[in-house]
Amino acid sequence: MGVVVIFDFDRTIIEIDSDNWVTTQLGASSLFDLLRPSLPWNSLMDRVMTELHSQGKSIDDIANSLKTIYLDPHIVSAINCFTDIVTNPSFVDKEGKLRILPYHISSVSPHGCALCPPNMCKGKIIEKIMKPVNAEERKNFIYLGDGKGDYCPSLKLTNEDYVMPRDKYPLSNLISNNPDLIKAKVYRWSNGEELERTLSELINKLLGRDQLNDNLQNLSGECKLEAIPASSEEGYSVAIPVPR
Ligand SMILES: [Mg+2]
Ligand SMILES: [Zn+2]
Repeated sequence: MGVVVIFDFDRTIIEIDSDNWVTTQLGASSLFDLLRPSLPWNSLMDRVMTELHSQGKSIDDIANSLKTIYLDPHIVSAINCFTDIVTNPSFVDKEGKLRILPYHISSVSPHGCALCPPNMCKGKIIEKIMKPVNAEERKNFIYLGDGKGDYCPSLKLTNEDYVMPRDKYPLSNLISNNPDLIKAKVYRWSNGEELERTLSELINKLLGRDQLNDNLQNLSGECKLEAIPASSEEGYSVAIPVPR
């Protein structure tokens, strides 16, 4: 029996929203506010990046802004390493502009899920992760998130799985509104310390302490976990150590 832990990023791994942070720090807030009512989030951020480029902001400026985001040390220590990252694809074009594309392209293959924004259905993604992993041996999944977009994947979890919503955020509220719809066991957290404690208790319980210690020793050496073939099209299938 193994455990697969899946983290949302914005307002889960990091305290705040990285898109909002870069937009505000680099000075595109007024365009953001102007276009927010008329564009889906993903297209809006692509447009904001065009604006930043026209204001002379470079990829380095964006990267440096992202590096100033506070990362709670408890959350860093809760995550040993990532085996896979699933995100909206992005690239730097010939002019040096950061382009952000949707994960699901709605004109070509719409995901057809009414719960999720047009660019990404995380429910579809978690199904793609769960199926091949469980084909080998049934694993327990732990999903951590905060937002509305984390509700769909939470509904896909079974009664052997766990969802860890950030307390008082939209995912937690959606779960409370219809508790019967969620099959997974629910453990709430409100800060990095609680996240770390709750997650390590759960993993401890699921793996048994001896196996956990073995796993941690393996991890500290080479940060090797099994690669999850979930997002081979767009994601990275390498183990990425978390900087400490
Ligand atoms: Mg989030
Ligand atoms: Zn969905």
